[in-house]
Amino acid sequence: MTPRLRGPSSLAFAGPAQWYPRTVPSSAFRASHRHVSSSTSSSSSSSTSSSKRGTFVRIAVVTATAGSIGAYIRWQQDSKNSTLNPFTFTHYELVSREPISSTSSLFTLRPVKPGHNREVYEAAWRTGVWSVMFKQPQLQIGRDYTPLPPIEKVSDTAENILEGEDQEPLRFLIRRDPHGEVSRYLHGLSLGSTVEMRGPQVECEIPSDVKDILFIAGGTGIAPALQAAYTLLRRDNGTAGSRIHILWANRKREDCLGGSNDSLQSPAERPWWRKLLSSSPATAAPEDPSKGLIVKELETLKSQFPGQITVDYFVDEERTMIDKQSILRFTKSSDASTGRGKLILVSGPDGFISYMAGPKMWAEGRELQGPLQGIIRELDLKGWNVWKL
Ligand SMILES: Cc1cc2nc3c(=O)[nH]c(=O)nc-3n(C[C@H](O)[C@H](O)[C@H](O)COP(=O)(O)OP(=O)(O)OC[C@H]3O[C@@H](n4cnc5c(N)ncnc54)[C@H](O)[C@@H]3O)c2cc1C
Repeated sequence: MTPRLRGPSSLAFAGPAQWYPRTVPSSAFRASHRHVSSSTSSSSSSSTSSSKRGTFVRIAVVTATAGSIGAYIRWQQDSKNSTLNPFTFTHYELVSREPISSTSSLFTLRPVKPGHNREVYEAAWRTGVWSVMFKQPQLQIGRDYTPLPPIEKVSDTAENILEGEDQEPLRFLIRRDPHGEVSRYLHGLSLGSTVEMRGPQVECEIPSDVKDILFIAGGTGIAPALQAAYTLLRRDNGTAGSRIHILWANRKREDCLGGSNDSLQSPAERPWWRKLLSSSPATAAPEDPSKGLIVKELETLKSQFPGQITVDYFVDEERTMIDKQSILRFTKSSDASTGRGKLILVSGPDGFISYMAGPKMWAEGRELQGPLQGIIRELDLKGWNVWKL
């Protein structure tokens, strides 16, 4: 994998480029119109009159051509704008916003105009981890957010709104930073508001030989973890025995309500009902209302791909932390299998990524991975590639 070239998302941008030629200014048209009137009313020599007519014809042709080119390009741009693309901003409507905890909400947005979004999303889902950039129009700044994988049953509210409609919605888990510009703006929008976004931006391609993924996620870093699971497990539809283990750290239990660990207890220590649950594929997503929405989505994936996705939860306020042992538990279990590509992905706040794998770096306008440091380096794992998101 090579580093993805991307501009710093936190910098201001000048909005979508106005690269198409402007239509000829109306003053030019008025000037040529004046020529028409003066040439028809004038009784001056015929050579002067025919030269004026020639000038008028040229201006009229240029005006008409420029006008139609402008109209054609604007039409093309408009039709592009109905489909998510990396170059111009596409308008989406905020359909629902459900609180997940005191700090984050699940946003559902759908394109204002119908387009070819399914194809765009599907290509991104097949590739790996991706994001889109949301625009804050007053400040003209943008921030990146990670779409959650589509599921059959999104949630009661969103499902009711989207039922039976081919609306190509996207869902996002967004944390409200009390001092953050764009997250505050998004949390303050009323339903039905228009949000502009562009993308997809591929953050990390998951190579086809990768069969084992350890995903270390902090907070909303769970969104790319869900994406990685969705891409990896759907890719071979369970036949190649791909596996993903997610270590998810949160500040508070409210962010992962009802989440219980899959690997922190040895199988012998597990109560009988947990053994039963992990060995028998469930057919429907668990409907426990005391579970957080993201926990439910993780359990839905587990029920779709039994035995292939496991999750351990860590909560700061419960003093549980991702340590070397929690990483080794999974990496050791996969060490014996050769010929399987192995990938560790780390996603979360900057400090979290630095602690796990060392900081990312900026050089010459590019975001680079930076050297591997942190506790993953200390573990000196052989055969594992590491990617910081
Ligand atoms: C690829 C990618 C995907 C992402 N996906 C998600 C996602 O799915 N969900 C999600 O919630 N987030 C996601 N993020 C993070 C998101 O892009 C934003 O960074 C986040 O929402 C905060 O943006 P903001 O505009 O609200 O805050 P900002 O305005 O950028 O501020 C962030 C913090 O920095 C502080 N700050 C700002 N300026 C200064 C300064 N000059 N000095 C000191 N402190 C300062 C602010 O007080 C605030 O606490 C993703 C980021 C990336 C790169």
